[in-house]
Amino acid sequence: MKTQNTLSFEYSYLNLPEKFYSFEYPQVFKYPEFVKINDKLCRNIGIDPENLVKLIDEIKSGRYNKKFFSQAYSGHQFGHFTNLGDGRALILGEHIIENGDRFDIQLKGSGRTVYARNGDGKATLKAMLREYLISEAMYNLGIPTSRSLAVLKTGEKVYREQENEGAAIFRLMKSHIRIGTFEYAANFCTKNDLKELAYYTIKRLYPELINEDNPIQSLLNKIIKIQVNLVSDWMRVGFIHGVMNTDNVALSGETFDYGPCAFMNYYNPATVYSSIDHFGRYAYGNQPRIIKWNLARFAETLLPILHDDENMAIQMAQNEINEFDKLWETEYYKKMLNKIGFETASPGLYFLIDDILKLMQKNYLDFTNTFFMLSNQEGREIISNKNDELKQWVKTWEKFIDDRGGFENSIPIMQKNNPIVIPRNHIVERALDEAIAGNTYLFENLLKKISNPYSYDIETDEYMNPPDFAFETSYQTFCGT
Ligand code: AMP
Ligand code: MG
Repeated sequence: MKTQNTLSFEYSYLNLPEKFYSFEYPQVFKYPEFVKINDKLCRNIGIDPENLVKLIDEIKSGRYNKKFFSQAYSGHQFGHFTNLGDGRALILGEHIIENGDRFDIQLKGSGRTVYARNGDGKATLKAMLREYLISEAMYNLGIPTSRSLAVLKTGEKVYREQENEGAAIFRLMKSHIRIGTFEYAANFCTKNDLKELAYYTIKRLYPELINEDNPIQSLLNKIIKIQVNLVSDWMRVGFIHGVMNTDNVALSGETFDYGPCAFMNYYNPATVYSSIDHFGRYAYGNQPRIIKWNLARFAETLLPILHDDENMAIQMAQNEINEFDKLWETEYYKKMLNKIGFETASPGLYFLIDDILKLMQKNYLDFTNTFFMLSNQEGREIISNKNDELKQWVKTWEKFIDDRGGFENSIPIMQKNNPIVIPRNHIVERALDEAIAGNTYLFENLLKKISNPYSYDIETDEYMNPPDFAFETSYQTFCGT
């Protein structure tokens, strides 16, 4: 794609009523220095990476005269309603790529905004490199996600538990509209404002819905499906988002807000890494229940514009939410059955997934490696020889595989759906610690490996082992760093 000499942004979001945003100017970074640029992504979307560097220079010298804005939103954080907004991020503008697709480019870690509350508006280098790494991993796993264009050091210190190097990230996303944006509109704006937001969202993300009988109902239906698709993908690869507050659920269906997220190693649905998730609300196995809860909050925001008759509106919203369980069951088992070699899912096969997961938990087996091992003869034997229960499961499974054309048919399906490399917590930590100390060797190598997560070569081995149990049970991740 042709690269542009200058960044030329559009600002369709600013056609919404002013309550939805605030014009902001980024903090002038003391000694900005780019530490990572996603050259390939920049070029794919027609941006010369030099333009990002120029933009930061222009901000520093006061020459940049375009608009920046932060978005207003609310959200349920751990179940409690709060008023929020971009406290440390601004949207530089909307970048249009060659095929006409529109993306927000956001700068996060850009300083305090009117929505900053008690926050310092800053971000640490470790957290921004972590976002870069994990979002790229998700993209390469084939899961919808925000992307990272570049990370820069700000030359300032950021204080958390200790002194950290400050940083900012350029983030690319179809749109940052969240369930929380609708919660803000429903709670603090007029019915007309809410309607404007809904129609803006439809036009921007799902223009095909505009001609439906009731576009608002269709939007709700669409968002439910898109989130079922997203979260079932997370389950497929063992991803734990860690902070599934409604303000972190994007209506574009992209994974975003990479705070305390992590990939599960040993299978256990109760796995939680986030240091603040004391009750396991956002544990791996709770993610389907939580996304349903979040979607119900979204449905509530739409009540005033779903139907003029309140009872009818409630009924319509309820009907849509009631569809969730069936949609979830179908999508989740389809993806999980793909992992054990079945192209199509039928309820008669579901027990195979339930049983292997129970056995993984009971035997402290690694989620990723177990599925990978099942896709090759040697691995199958190792799993089978562990104990009688696993042997029995493999035998039963193999019978179903034989009925459907044998492993020749099934292995390609398994290979497409079972990653071999995920960003393992202990390796991610080491890579980040070394990178912030100036040695990016492991960070770059890990990035290379997670760019090709479904393929194996001899160098892959060292990225495949789970951490030891002691590390795993004490490992913690942090939000908002
Ligand atoms: P998050 O947990 O990242 O979704 O953040 C929740 C809210 O806190 C969002 O409104 C953020 O913009 C805000 N926030 C997080 N960290 C900071 C910070 N260091 N300074 C200002 N606002 C922040
Ligand atoms: Mg957030």
